[in-house]
Amino acid sequence: MSFEAVLGQEPAIKTLERALRSGKVHHAYRFEGPPGVGKNLAALALAQALLCEAPTPLACQHCSACKRAQTFSEEPPHLPAHPDLLIVERGIYKGVLQASEASGISIEQVRRIVLSRVGFSPHEGRAVVCIVRSAEELTTSAANALLKTLEEPPSRTFFVLLTSKPSRLLDTIRSRTLPVRFGPLPDAVVSKLLAARGLDEKLAQLAHGSMQEALASADPEELSRRSSFSEQLLAGLDAPDLSGALAFAEKLKLERAELTDLLTHLAQVLALRARAIVAEKPEDARRAARRHEIVRSALADIERNVGPQLALEAMVAKLRRT
Ligand SMILES: [Zn+2]
Repeated sequence: MSFEAVLGQEPAIKTLERALRSGKVHHAYRFEGPPGVGKNLAALALAQALLCEAPTPLACQHCSACKRAQTFSEEPPHLPAHPDLLIVERGIYKGVLQASEASGISIEQVRRIVLSRVGFSPHEGRAVVCIVRSAEELTTSAANALLKTLEEPPSRTFFVLLTSKPSRLLDTIRSRTLPVRFGPLPDAVVSKLLAARGLDEKLAQLAHGSMQEALASADPEELSRRSSFSEQLLAGLDAPDLSGALAFAEKLKLERAELTDLLTHLAQVLALRARAIVAEKPEDARRAARRHEIVRSALADIERNVGPQLALEAMVAKLRRT
């Protein structure tokens, strides 16, 4: 779980290592970047360095604190064995919390997992580190409950908020956290990580720089679901009349997250097609590239909260005109 395990994120890792070496670690970071690019690994590595018992700025990897910061319970919620490393994530404390968390990380989780803990000094004297995964899922009341502690945490208390949707965080949360940006991974890094897991390296081409995407494509069921969506939609577009494509879109009644997955795959298919035929069929390649842009812009609309059905129908109409 050292920083070396985080591949393809040199600027972010340099920033964190510099902070550790100079003894100027900020008390509240916000790691921003796409899902599946190493934000969680980097947060765990930072936590390990802060908890390490050795008198070195970076984690020694050998002391008991280092080991327990990277040992997780086998049962969900897979919490670290180190008592001063806190994990906040929607839905992981089922059975412990009374709140349902269907709509986000509850104020109950913030109170019971974080606030009840950070008021006291660390169990083991080094630090208390709290990692909030998918921080954009904090409900407004949960976010507000965190604000004061984020602004003025007790000494040696650190927060790392992870998010792939920073614009969904409250302004007050954004202004109290220091951003560290994580980019999409280079395809070579995704290939390497896939190979290390014994998976097909070529899936990297479909991954948009995200290991999460690559692993989803490696799941045969998921891949066939996504491929069949893309094939049916594209076939409907090229049919003589519009009704087939619209009926297909209508029938799906997709949730936002699911449609985002499917359209991300469709965008990848179009981008790969444009690249593959650019030499022999430049006109078709340009068309595929235009269609790729339309799908990306539909994804942006969905991200901006346009209703999934509306975004899908508008996209189909635009695709038909290309
Ligand atoms: Zn150590």
